Amino acid sequence: MDRISAPHAWRGLAACAAPDVDPEVFFAPVNRNAPRGWEEQPKRICRACAVAEKCFQTAVSNGITEGIWGGLTGWERHARGGPRPIRTRPPKTIIVSDNSPRGRS
Ligand code: SF4
Repeated sequence: MDRISAPHAWRGLAACAAPDVDPEVFFAPVNRNAPRGWEEQPKRICRACAVAEKCFQTAVSNGITEGIWGGLTGWERHARGGPRPIRTRPPKTIIVSDNSPRGRS
């Protein structure tokens, strides 16, 4: 069995396994202030990855919809046969303070 065909051995060849790569960058910030284009940094890392196809196949076969896998977002993987991500939205919060126009009578 070669290094890549051993179960999970491919992960040792992943560009994101480098000690200077923060794994958190592969997941979107969960707040409303996620900067547009947040995925460009992890995608740049994935473009240099020798096992991107294996990573993509692993995400698809395991139904993973979150994060960047194989250099693709969940929606991009869905477009290539992956599972459909669940569209979630943060709860709407309405804050009314006494100083707001609605707080005055
Ligand atoms: S393609 Fe997958 S294994 Fe490779 S760097 Fe990107 S997330 Fe890591």
